[in-house]
Amino acid sequence: MTDYKNLIDGKLVDNGEWLEVLNPANEQVVGRVPACGKDELDTAVAAARRAFKEWKKTSAEERQKVVQGIAAAIKDNADELYRLLTTEQGKPHAQAQQEIYGAAGLAAAQSTLTLDEVVNQDDEQRLSRTRRVPVGVVGGIVPWNFPVMMAIQKIVPALVAGCTIVLKPSPFTPLTTLRIAELIKDVVPAGTVNIITGEDSLGPMITEHPDIDKITFTGSTATGKKIMEGASGDLKRITLELGGNDASIVLPDADVEKVAEQLFWSSFSNAGQVCIAAKRVYIHKDIYDDLSKAIAEYAKSVVVGDGSQQGTGVGPIQNKKQYERVLELIQDAKDNGYKFLTGGDKDPSGTGYYVPITILDNPPEDARIVAEEQFGPVMPLLKFDSIDEVIERANNSEYGLAGAVWTKDTDKGVEIAEQLETGTVWINEFMHLSPFSPFGGHKQSGFGAEYGVDGLKEFTYPQVITVKRDAVV
Ligand code: NAD
Repeated sequence: MTDYKNLIDGKLVDNGEWLEVLNPANEQVVGRVPACGKDELDTAVAAARRAFKEWKKTSAEERQKVVQGIAAAIKDNADELYRLLTTEQGKPHAQAQQEIYGAAGLAAAQSTLTLDEVVNQDDEQRLSRTRRVPVGVVGGIVPWNFPVMMAIQKIVPALVAGCTIVLKPSPFTPLTTLRIAELIKDVVPAGTVNIITGEDSLGPMITEHPDIDKITFTGSTATGKKIMEGASGDLKRITLELGGNDASIVLPDADVEKVAEQLFWSSFSNAGQVCIAAKRVYIHKDIYDDLSKAIAEYAKSVVVGDGSQQGTGVGPIQNKKQYERVLELIQDAKDNGYKFLTGGDKDPSGTGYYVPITILDNPPEDARIVAEEQFGPVMPLLKFDSIDEVIERANNSEYGLAGAVWTKDTDKGVEIAEQLETGTVWINEFMHLSPFSPFGGHKQSGFGAEYGVDGLKEFTYPQVITVKRDAVV
């Protein structure tokens, strides 16, 4: 078992109090991290504030170089990092590798983003231009499903925009992030990136801290609402990436054999613990029987187990609370007599938070397992008749994160996509995010956006400077 330290003001530190981190595959302690509170937070925020004075004056090229250094540190240590990530998060090695390389790639790509000045007026009377200025010290709060990716998607745009950051990983998955902190200690100027760990109770202290100017948060909608409330005291800027209940819509012209496997992974990647996983799969009645059979057949070939073992496709649920919540939803479906194509029948006792691959056969629309975000290896297949009906059913959610349409007729797919009330819609793929396109939720899936120029702007204020050219002074 290793003790991991926080990064505060360019130094690796601990306070002598520790939180234990478990491996969800076997419930063994795999590491300890500092259990911080208000004192350590104050120190980190003060360091970020001091560093901001210089960092905000740096050129785009200097910032780009630092961020590329972060990308290189992650990439050069990818083998160690992905193994550690599996140990604390549970995801299979191949998916952990994707996350680590994805985070390095995101950092490298986003290091190149810039916010150009806009000229509003340039004539004999005035020169007016809008420039973007960094908001200041950012508080970043991240969840446990993609701990490294989420940390990087907060740290990188903050630095690129000229801000400094205090980041809090989830208490369930802080280890890989703290190992990265160690690796980048001498890459980032002291105080620009501070990573501090603690229980959930550290979150509100960040949200309400008077010397933090902006909160960027990824997590549940329930916590997002608390953050909005906490940040309202001094009108902090906020970006919230929250939950989703994404619908996939499969039209009758889709090739059953070809889409079955893709649909499976759109729900079961990372054991379904993905905000943009397909959580409701609507299949046209003409192909419903064939496609549901093909998906259930494919599911038989996928091994649920310890993510560090070769051949595992679906790992454990990341933590006990989420494990119990997913089992509760499955139990509710059983109690209501819904039909299962697979899963729902295994005794979940034993070591490790394993849930069998669970596919439901056309449960009612108001079933909890359909209407709520499952965030686990659960896939309700739902039958539909007409396009109008399926659009209405897909939109009948408080969430609006993403969705997908599967069809050979891509024009039709786009026509449907334009009627979905979500921030992202894919035609014939899933979960693809570009470093250069905005990603954010409609309705209760979020507030603001991450990624791309739109995401970067959220770390800045617009400032308009106008020179009166024909003035008499
Ligand atoms: P969570 O909201 O419980 O926790 C997220 C983070 O917030 C953790 O670091 C936690 O310690 C902290 N926190 C908890 N209470 C807080 C409070 N009152 N104030 C401030 N911070 C607090 O979420 P989770 O269970 O870790 O993650 C799962 C959820 O995240 C799912 O709903 C999922 O859909 C969502 N998610 C969304 C996205 C997205 O981009 N939209 C991505 C990944 C996950």
